[in-house]
Amino acid sequence: MDKYIYCDNAATTEISDVVFNSMLPYLKENYGNPSSIYKLGRDSKKAIEIAREKTAKALNCDPKEIIFTSCGTESDNWAIKSTARRLKSRGKTHIITTVFEHHAVLHTCEQLEKEGFSISYIPVSKEGLVNPEDIKNAITEETAIVSVMFANNEIGTIQPIKEIAEICREKKVIFHTDAVQALGNVSIDLNELGVDLASFSGHKIHAPKGIGCIYIRKGVALPTLIQGGGQERAKRAGTENVAGIVGFGTAIEKAVENIPAKIEKLTPLRNKLIDGILKLPHTRLNGSKTQRLCGNVNISIEGIEGESLLLMLDMFGIAASSGSACTSGSLDPSHVLLSLGLVHEVAHGSLRLSIGENFTDSEADYILETIPKVVEKLRAMSPLWEKIQNNDK
Ligand code: PLP
Repeated sequence: MDKYIYCDNAATTEISDVVFNSMLPYLKENYGNPSSIYKLGRDSKKAIEIAREKTAKALNCDPKEIIFTSCGTESDNWAIKSTARRLKSRGKTHIITTVFEHHAVLHTCEQLEKEGFSISYIPVSKEGLVNPEDIKNAITEETAIVSVMFANNEIGTIQPIKEIAEICREKKVIFHTDAVQALGNVSIDLNELGVDLASFSGHKIHAPKGIGCIYIRKGVALPTLIQGGGQERAKRAGTENVAGIVGFGTAIEKAVENIPAKIEKLTPLRNKLIDGILKLPHTRLNGSKTQRLCGNVNISIEGIEGESLLLMLDMFGIAASSGSACTSGSLDPSHVLLSLGLVHEVAHGSLRLSIGENFTDSEADYILETIPKVVEKLRAMSPLWEKIQNNDK
């Protein structure tokens, strides 16, 4: 095998050279503690503030509205738990989210349910889209926070965040969006969007793992997450991950700059993959074809099992992901695919390809040559496939 084609950019991305090089000084010679007053410390502090300015510029907000965190999961937990707990004493004990959020949001809501909150899980359409009217109808006097993801991590569907933000503002309810998958794929103008809180992660945009940020709109009270030495405007104390923050600043600047070129390059490649795979019988595209991230392909292939497909594709040098929930070692099918109305067997046989900026047309050709061979092999071994064909007859 002389090829290795990485098609799992929604899981994580490679650190880019420009990000890596920008971080290096802060891992070695510029090791000062940003809280120290001598030059070495001041240089670190300055680097953090430059990264914050780059982040704010990329998202069109004020640098004071950005707090660096360790990841998207932390930002999601902080936004939802702290807002909900703050508002509980005012009788706000209701949370609205959707059925197909990332577990960083869903498990946070489950925890809050144990603390006495009631949660409305808004269903999505067959196309994987949230209807803003459903959010509007679910809001009550008791609603503390609404949390709706910007783009879904499995099926790549892009949600009407601006409309939902308008509804929440009208109803005076805090609105949080998990924008981890949207960042670097969709233009995000926080001033215009009108969201109150937003979560971002570095490792999806060619920064390292272990760095993310949260946007807290001016005037929105989000209680301190970590008490300590007063870092991050005393909201999230702890000596800063200077190199990670610098890498994040470089990555977000580049990612946002590259959005138009990325969309232009990846959309036809994504469509080529979708159209090519859909030529196989008994396949279906999961999620809207148009309201979709430019690099996301998610297709259910009946008569095969997702994990087996991934292992075989790996042998052919293709790194992909399945719609099945494999993070917990569970064999349960993905909650996202079930939310679209897929039956368990179909949801189990799903493939997600998330392509990145460096993906090429010849790589698409190789994938389209490989998948039919692999699917044929797996279907030949599957009792399920025989049943599906018999039903056809
Ligand atoms: N939210 C979404 C939509 C994601 O896709 C992910 C990661 O896959 C996360 C949150 C969690 O981000 P992190 O890995 O930075 O904790």
